[in-house]
Amino acid sequence: MRIVILGSGSAYGCPMVFNNWRRLQPGNPRNRRDRASVYFEAEGKKFVIDAGPEFRSEINKCGIDDLDALFVTHGHYDHIASIPELSRASTLAEHPIEVWSSEETERELRTCFGFLFNGEEQEGCGLHWRRLPDVGGFEACGVHFRTFRVPHHRLHCSAFRYKDFAYVTDWEDMPAEGIDILRGVKLLVIECNNGLYPEKNGHSDLENVKKVAAEVKPERVVLTHLSARVDYDETTAALPENFELAYDGMELTV
Ligand SMILES: [Zn+2]
Ligand SMILES: [Zn+2]
Repeated sequence: MRIVILGSGSAYGCPMVFNNWRRLQPGNPRNRRDRASVYFEAEGKKFVIDAGPEFRSEINKCGIDDLDALFVTHGHYDHIASIPELSRASTLAEHPIEVWSSEETERELRTCFGFLFNGEEQEGCGLHWRRLPDVGGFEACGVHFRTFRVPHHRLHCSAFRYKDFAYVTDWEDMPAEGIDILRGVKLLVIECNNGLYPEKNGHSDLENVKKVAAEVKPERVVLTHLSARVDYDETTAALPENFELAYDGMELTV
């Protein structure tokens, strides 16, 4: 299956506003990161997880010309800012786009984008709202997935597994049901916002990811949602053998 990292950056992108690179070497193109998002194809259907502020440019840069469903992990700006853009996307694609979110996340979406839910949106008929279970299996566009939620700040964030691919973002702790669902996955793409610099900020770091990997035993771990403290070369030098950093436009197969 084809997987494309559309964006590998944390909430503030890399560099941050005012061209602030923090710990990043500005000369390395892999230190330029849009907000975290991933595109993948499964059973002929096209999916994206999260649509942050750079959704349109990410999709255009990666040559993606259709979308069947969006999975929304949680209601933070860096994951939802472009959801209104999807109504135009569905018009251009000439079919509806399913938008999947948990009950908690849908509450956040209704607060931010009420106009998409109340019929005022001119092109809003193209978005079909779907409810994710908090944990367990579900079918999107006829494709079977498993999901669970991880704690993140005061919210919870939905994570996903499809066969040998799993995507987990914005997490500070891994519940037992998450380990059960992830166990044996071959490709684990997982948030490592803080990299080598642990901090209590609702996110994870390399040591947290290593603990999960020790239980799940994936063949390949790709770290994403990277902050401006995660320099590509500095962090890569410290990674275990089967770990690597994501970068914008990275193509993966499993
Ligand atoms: Zn985030
Ligand atoms: Zn978040």
